[in-house]
Amino acid sequence: MSTLRQLFLANNAQTTNFPLLLEFVRAEGIYMYDAQGKAYIDLISGIGVSNLGHRHPAVVDAIKDQLDKYMHLMVYGEYVQTPQVRFAEKLVSILPDNLESVYFVNSGAEAAEGALKLAKRFTGRRKIIACHNAYHGSTHGALSVMGNDEFKRGFGPLLPDVSFIRFNDQTDLQHITEQTACVIIETIQGEAGIHPATPAYMQALYARCKQTGTLLILDEIQAGLGRTGKLFAFEHYGIVPDILLLAKALGGGMPVGAFISSNNIMGALKDNPILGHITTFGGHPVCCAAGLAALNVLLDEKLIDQVADKEMLFRSLLVHPAIKAVRGKGLMLAVEFENFELNKKIIDCCIENGIVTDWFLHCSNAMRIAPPLIISHDDIKKSCDIIIKCINQCSQ
Ligand code: PLP
Repeated sequence: MSTLRQLFLANNAQTTNFPLLLEFVRAEGIYMYDAQGKAYIDLISGIGVSNLGHRHPAVVDAIKDQLDKYMHLMVYGEYVQTPQVRFAEKLVSILPDNLESVYFVNSGAEAAEGALKLAKRFTGRRKIIACHNAYHGSTHGALSVMGNDEFKRGFGPLLPDVSFIRFNDQTDLQHITEQTACVIIETIQGEAGIHPATPAYMQALYARCKQTGTLLILDEIQAGLGRTGKLFAFEHYGIVPDILLLAKALGGGMPVGAFISSNNIMGALKDNPILGHITTFGGHPVCCAAGLAALNVLLDEKLIDQVADKEMLFRSLLVHPAIKAVRGKGLMLAVEFENFELNKKIIDCCIENGIVTDWFLHCSNAMRIAPPLIISHDDIKKSCDIIIKCINQCSQ
């Protein structure tokens, strides 16, 4: 009889020839458990998703409650579905005034797709600017604004009229003109290996967009919802985007994404022609119920207030001659090593010792530290002890 691993390799489409092949049977809080009962700390939150840890009881209850009422009823935007309405109401109540209209989709890439279309339709322009080393998803439109040619190989032609500027380089902002529909940019670049925008850059970008009538799309799919120590990462910069992208942690472990803008801008999808963006499952009632419960927990338990302190603890413990830098903001950190080989050895050792981490799509010599925000000080110490032990072991 085939093992589960053999079946996975045979029947489930593979995205690399070297999948992690970890097999978990249960997950709770910051821990994931294998069939032998071995516990692993999820130090990457399933790549920025499990901000409240796995299976937060309030989220599980909200899902069960909604399951007992209804699941899918109708494509997005026609019926008045309570979970969608309540979730949008809550999001709008915690966002700046111009971010008042929420379009729910299923994923981060879909949020990026919707936002790019919206910017073109609203401005009547066709040029799009993105950043080198950006990651906004893997569908055709989102791939078109990915700032790494290697991952685009074999998929052309992609969207025309997309050009790239250097992240955090103010001299490149001159490329934004009256012909530019939008700039799409991560507030903190994630897959580039965690690079926060500088305040001066973000403010200059904002000003240039305003000057040229270009819409500013901030992708906070990875950085949003408390991870950086503010509810939204743009709050660190004193600016507000025209369109905000959220996904990943938005559903509390369930799949939901959103692009959020003003009623004026979002109105462009309503007519000329109608149905400017369509999704069957976007804003699935069960996912929206989960997302609302997760957001309430995040706010009620004041988890964001503890993020800066936890970042400091990581930074104070992750000190070693083999560590070249610790970058990032809040619990969105990258630990940089000399090269990929060393990083990979340390990551393998960490996994062996019950700490799950990985590297970044566009940065293979840095290790990702993005645990659930609920991680305790003791578990941070435990994680860092193991990481340092592995660095010692692998860097000899
Ligand atoms: N934008 C950013 C910044 C991301 O990190 C990701 C995923 O890693 C995405 C967009 C795409 O999200 P999804 O995988 O849900 O399509």
